[in-house]
Amino acid sequence: MSKFLKQSFSQLVPYTPGEQPKDNKYIKLNTNESPFPPSKKAVAAAKKAAKKLQLYSDPECLKLREKLAEIYGVKKEQIIATNGSDEVLNFAFMAFCDENTPAAFADITYGFYKVFAAVNNVPFTQIPLSDDFTINVDDYLGINKTIFIANPNAPTGIALTLSEIEKILKANPNNIVVIDEAYTGLGAESAVSLVNKYDNLLVTMTFSKTRSMAGARLGFAIGSKDIINDLNTVRYSTNPYNVNSMTLAAGVGALEDQEYTIKNCKTIMQNRAYTTLELKKRGFSVLESLSNFVFATHPKFNANELYLSLKQNGVLVRHFTDERIKDYNRITIGSKAQMQQFFKVLDTIMQGEKL
Ligand SMILES: *Cc1c(COP(=O)(O)O)cnc(C)c1O
Repeated sequence: MSKFLKQSFSQLVPYTPGEQPKDNKYIKLNTNESPFPPSKKAVAAAKKAAKKLQLYSDPECLKLREKLAEIYGVKKEQIIATNGSDEVLNFAFMAFCDENTPAAFADITYGFYKVFAAVNNVPFTQIPLSDDFTINVDDYLGINKTIFIANPNAPTGIALTLSEIEKILKANPNNIVVIDEAYTGLGAESAVSLVNKYDNLLVTMTFSKTRSMAGARLGFAIGSKDIINDLNTVRYSTNPYNVNSMTLAAGVGALEDQEYTIKNCKTIMQNRAYTTLELKKRGFSVLESLSNFVFATHPKFNANELYLSLKQNGVLVRHFTDERIKDYNRITIGSKAQMQQFFKVLDTIMQGEKL
């Protein structure tokens, strides 16, 4: 730390991204990326856009928003595009939270929420998940806070139903409820259908997971025109060109190839069922996931040691050290071949000398 860092940041603990190894020797099942390449249409569009990099990107992200509006059945004024959904989540903390309106989110959830709270000097409450890692909806009723819910939740993969979300929206009419849908399309119900009914709802989504574009950094949010206007005030006060022109073009290309995304989602769901079954056969408990990862624990094998052995043998999964989840590993669902290789390695470890 330099002597120049402001006092209020002296205790700031930044977000720790999952490992991104520099070599290709690992099967990467640790950061919930897609095992499939981006749509060919996305790649072609990005290449074309690269030829015009002398120009600024469109600050309105118009084409992308029009396309998204069409797909999600809302007006383009109800959509904001951002540099990954992380950026719009940060904008939401900036726009809708302060000491009078603190943030609230689960104790076990996406790790960035508490970092965004800290960096924006926003007080926050962590609401404990139940023992079975589900969200207890009653804990979120009329709490006078800006609520952030990852649905499905990370790293558990467990989702709330639409009626449970609606109950939370109804009970907090004077507060924003952010539903972070990073994993839509994999079985959970989307809350987008409720945006015209509840003016306190903001739904965030990303191209990083099911659309195979994590490296392009493209996210967006859908809400009422007024909420989106507020977020745009923050955006134009920080970086109006937050989405670069190659990414914008790639995003439109990906949206023109919806069949590809839908096909990949289907494959991931099949591979998730396969992975869950095979893990259970080997004695793991696996939480019911509606995302592109599973969260699993074994009564006999120490999760951290298992993570390390897998890594030593070329398979990366994610282990978190938080007390409540230290016995679990989060395993991203890859291609069938990747999952078969994962089980091959897992079997050697489990049959070998005890860990
Ligand atoms: C991956 C993820 C995000 C962030 O995704 P971006 O790559 O920034 O779009 C946000 N929330 C959850 C729950 C995620 O898993």
